Amino acid sequence: MTSDAPTILVTGGTGYLGTRLLADLLASGAAVRTTVRSLDRADEVRAAVRRAGVDDTGLSFAAAPLTHDDGWADALAGIEEVHHTASPMIQTAVPDEVVVPARDGALRVLRAARDAGARRVVLTSSFAAVGYSPKPVRDYDESDWTDPATPGLPAYPLSKAVAERAAWDFVEREGGGLELVALNPTWIAGPTLTASARSSLAVFTGMLDGTMTAVPRQRFGLADVRDVSAAHLAAMSTPGAAGNRYLVLADGPTMTFLDVATVLRERLGDLAAAVPTEELPGDEPAPLVIHNERAKRELDLRPRAAVDTIVETAESLRDLGLLADRS
Ligand code: NAP
Repeated sequence: MTSDAPTILVTGGTGYLGTRLLADLLASGAAVRTTVRSLDRADEVRAAVRRAGVDDTGLSFAAAPLTHDDGWADALAGIEEVHHTASPMIQTAVPDEVVVPARDGALRVLRAARDAGARRVVLTSSFAAVGYSPKPVRDYDESDWTDPATPGLPAYPLSKAVAERAAWDFVEREGGGLELVALNPTWIAGPTLTASARSSLAVFTGMLDGTMTAVPRQRFGLADVRDVSAAHLAAMSTPGAAGNRYLVLADGPTMTFLDVATVLRERLGDLAAAVPTEELPGDEPAPLVIHNERAKRELDLRPRAAVDTIVETAESLRDLGLLADRS
């Protein structure tokens, strides 16, 4: 516990990743401020952090929406290090509903960080900003970018590509020495601290509840939320990380949803009795390779095994009472 004024800001404190990152920072003894859309959410965030067994005394709050300038100067006052996780994780057919808050929100955070004299911003970008434009061979590293002009690109990957590009352009042109690191996690799973199954966890609840009767045919990388949080801490403390992007995901081959379903069935017995065994019709997804060597080498990241992440995600949803009662 500390009574010092916070010098670390986490945006998106209500989120799946945000709550985990807050818990990890507080566990290290740091005082941390977090932004939320409304201060009414403070108790919920405190409860999430305590779920990790962490003392929340050093946690404080500032209200600041991604969509408005209000609150950002106050949120950044006295702050040296910013973890910018907030971004809309919603499916929509109207791109501006996600692109505008993602891009303009990132620029608001960066501008306020620069004006406050902060040292570094670590931005949670996504593999969605790296690997959503077709390539002859689907083999991706940090030199790849999703082209916003890709035909048929859904709104969410568009929002991540546009926001990350805008962030790099900002620090280059008007950052005034502010450092930026981008993290590009693949699909995130792992135990949650939130009181609802947010974000990417909806797929797990759908599989375990049996409401998803067949899984999508899709191949992806799996990142553990605890490893993404660890990557945030390392990206902030590693001097040479400034100016870089880092893909964050588990070792080993990329997976399909059917692979995830198989792990759930093989490892979780009755809890996985309703997990689908079929894939939706469609073409077999093309092979996909996503490289995590840079994060392992430069951030000293040691990602968890994907199988453990899958099992512990399901156990966490069960333990928090977030699965429908099938009895
Ligand atoms: P999440 O649980 O939905 O968290 C998103 C956070 O952003 C929440 O705190 C949310 O606040 C906040 N937010 C959204 N729109 C906002 C707005 N207009 N103003 C202020 N705050 C706003 O999702 P997550 O999985 O933790 O995502 C965290 C970050 O990781 C995001 O940048 C996401 O793109 C990135 N990411 C996620 C995955 C994944 O598979 N989950 C993979 C790669 C990258 P409210 O609670 O008020 O909505």
